[in-house]
Amino acid sequence: MSIIQNNNASLPAKKLAVSIEGIKNYLGFLSEIGVTGFDCSEKSLRIIQSWGGKKPFLNETLEKIITDMGECRQCSLCNKRTNIVFGSGNPDARLVFVGKAPGSDEDIKGVPFVGEAGRLLTKIIEAIKLSRDQVYICNIVKCRPPGNRNPSADEIMACLPFFKRQMKAIQPKFICAMGSVAAQTILGTTIPISKLRGTFYDVMGIRVMPTYHPADLLRNENKKREVWEDMKQLMCEYNEV
Ligand code: URA
Repeated sequence: MSIIQNNNASLPAKKLAVSIEGIKNYLGFLSEIGVTGFDCSEKSLRIIQSWGGKKPFLNETLEKIITDMGECRQCSLCNKRTNIVFGSGNPDARLVFVGKAPGSDEDIKGVPFVGEAGRLLTKIIEAIKLSRDQVYICNIVKCRPPGNRNPSADEIMACLPFFKRQMKAIQPKFICAMGSVAAQTILGTTIPISKLRGTFYDVMGIRVMPTYHPADLLRNENKKREVWEDMKQLMCEYNEV
């Protein structure tokens, strides 16, 4: 049975299996000769780049990412979107606010957080004595999920490389991850936002503060107090560093 399946396997699938086997063997070889990790420093990446082949993402810029996204068709959200909502604000921001995905207002305007939740986010940013122009605002997923549903795991995975590159370009010191989709994606966990919020996490050298999404606050005013507690912690560290 398995032999028949193997014979029917498509050529790309066979090639992939061979490549995976090759990678496994090579990693086994490296571990046998005592290699315990990989050096992905800028210096090493530059050396690898000088060998030719695919460029690692050195000197990342938001413009390059936007160009690479083009009219992205990595997932089916492209079929119903009006605009890709990439992000807005200061490209050198020390603090980035991250939501889940654009809603209908954002889809129409191509700018994140411009609807009702966005107006509340603007007030939150101003409450910590900053402006929308000083920070950067974006979403994990760049196209609107129809009916404002949460993005699926596949949609998040398809868009995540763009978000990661965005963070590499901006190199913020702080991320405020708003709501469960942003917080769980950035922290790589399924722990509920109610448990994650209120504590800083270090992710690749970035201080990440999860908190409730502004839309949660529109549904439940009681959460405003907790968000304010989280923002005070954020403001404290932001003003220290
Ligand atoms: N909610 C989000 O998560 N992002 C937006 O841009 C707007 C609403």
